[in-house]
Amino acid sequence: MNDHNRAPEAHGSGELLIRGGHVLPIDPAIPEMPKGDVHVRDGVIVAVAQNIEAPDAQIIDATKMVVMPGFVETHWHMWNGIWRGIVDDATAYFRTHMLLHHYTAEDHYAAVRFAALDAINAGITTCNNWAHGVRHSEDAEAEMQALVDSGIRAKFCYPCVVGGHATNIDDLKNARDWAEAHGNGLLGLGALLDETGAHIEEHVAMARELGLRPITNHGGFLATPDLIGPEFIFTHGPGIQPHAIELIKAKGVKVAFCPCTDPLIGNGLPPVYAMSCAEVPLDNLSFSVDVTGQTSADPFAALRMLVDSGRMQQVEAGNLTGSLLAIAQAGIKWKFGYKDALRVGTLGGANVLGLADQIGSLTPGKRADIILVRTDEINMMPARNIDPTCLMLQNAKPNNVDTVIIDGHIRKRYGQLIGVDIDAVVSSAAATLHQLRVRAATASCA
Ligand SMILES: [Zn+2]
Repeated sequence: MNDHNRAPEAHGSGELLIRGGHVLPIDPAIPEMPKGDVHVRDGVIVAVAQNIEAPDAQIIDATKMVVMPGFVETHWHMWNGIWRGIVDDATAYFRTHMLLHHYTAEDHYAAVRFAALDAINAGITTCNNWAHGVRHSEDAEAEMQALVDSGIRAKFCYPCVVGGHATNIDDLKNARDWAEAHGNGLLGLGALLDETGAHIEEHVAMARELGLRPITNHGGFLATPDLIGPEFIFTHGPGIQPHAIELIKAKGVKVAFCPCTDPLIGNGLPPVYAMSCAEVPLDNLSFSVDVTGQTSADPFAALRMLVDSGRMQQVEAGNLTGSLLAIAQAGIKWKFGYKDALRVGTLGGANVLGLADQIGSLTPGKRADIILVRTDEINMMPARNIDPTCLMLQNAKPNNVDTVIIDGHIRKRYGQLIGVDIDAVVSSAAATLHQLRVRAATASCA
């Protein structure tokens, strides 16, 4: 479908040498390099070191840039990513769900492609499409096609209830087979359990039989502790009780914080400090974009919010709230810092989606999902001997992302998405929203 919208094959799938950047490998075995190179061949990272010689490689000059793994987000309702400027809180968000009755498969395609390109532009190289808006198998195929056409690496979480009917194993198998056949190795299937908990046992069994990962819903599955395991993702989390955190830790359940949307709807802050104190492993934590109808797909802002949340909660736990001087004089050793947040945003996300053997760090042998972030722009600063992790998480924005490489393919270069007519994508998304609202208004008048 929509052949005219497809991005032409991005160049750079052969051999690349990313040269002279500040390299943050996010691999505990590889040191940070203030001036290092990353060598990529056939979509695989083959070396991370200083002064690599690769005479046949296309050179990517990374001077004054941070070179790091792409961000991995783990929970995103992508089908409603076009609801920009119309949902200012949770009431409006759920009210706007009435538009879903008017979505066509083409609308699912337009919305998900818009969201996926927004992600790539921001340096997110892997996303988890929480596809609960799917009402027919054609909608699912349209959303998966949009992910493929954008070039992003993705999980597609197939809902276990579609159009009011419980999904059967053939539906899941067909979707899994479609992802394998058409996904260029970048698309995998997960399972989205019914929020009501209905059919949970049978759906978990089906997902496990087909090897689907992740298995997820908003967390209702914690009520059935015997069923859950390390392939599960618990999402959101404000207000979570200590026994639930202990269960998450004991079962190896993964966590997707929603640091930009939960505060927006008044639901509270992501429970970063409580999870850290309970020693839920860092690599079992991740950030999610959640709803781009309400916030931007901005990994820097999301990770900054995780750090800020952890600090607020730690200060509150130490009864220091309200006194700036007391906080400053306390010399607090923060439980969750910027380096922790960057790891959560990359390797943590990869582990949460079950992809840590393929992505999440600049480790030789892993797939080449790499981003370059400029430090020489007005909101940044490329001074000597500064901490680039702190610089990025305090200051960077998606527009500072100069280059995005996914599976060895260059998808963004010199700050521009490659092979994408941005004006056409944005106006198509806006037109899709407008038409949906017109159809909904017409239907309600009839
Ligand atoms: Zn959500």
